[in-house]
Amino acid sequence: MASSDSGKKVADHMRRFLRGIPDPEPSRDEFAELWQFFENQCAICGRALKRTYREGRHGFAEPGARRAIGNRLLLCAVCSLKREKGEWWRNLLRRSVRDPTKYERRAAKIEAWQHRHPLPDPPESPQIASCLARAEAAIKDFTAACQDLRAACHAHGHQASTTPTGSAHVGGSR
Ligand SMILES: [Zn+2]
Repeated sequence: MASSDSGKKVADHMRRFLRGIPDPEPSRDEFAELWQFFENQCAICGRALKRTYREGRHGFAEPGARRAIGNRLLLCAVCSLKREKGEWWRNLLRRSVRDPTKYERRAAKIEAWQHRHPLPDPPESPQIASCLARAEAAIKDFTAACQDLRAACHAHGHQASTTPTGSAHVGGSR
């Protein structure tokens, strides 16, 4: 199980990297504006955050979607961790904030942020689609090759490494 997990991690990194080409990370100024807009507080629970201590996370409003600043929220580590995979901000807010007045106030604030920064249209063209499809095929190929390599190593009685750096060189020269 561990081995396929680490292979998946590498593939996830590759996909993130790929998405970053047409959908880059926001600029420093945009993140500074995010902190200012949310008054250095977690958008969900309202916890005060210190930017200098790197306490805040630039989470996604709609996870797995766009990286643009309009889809980012200032979150504390606790809210960031307790968020379920693929959970939308509204659901997280509902789970986290019982007080209806606070819930409404925070939801309105997040909506105001999204309204202020509408998501730009993603760059689309047949060329972009074809490049992304090629890269996706390469990632699948890479993942399959990793699995085959592990299977081949196991077949020869070697302990296959489960991490990209591995421990192949332990023991030095032989
Ligand atoms: Zn929080």
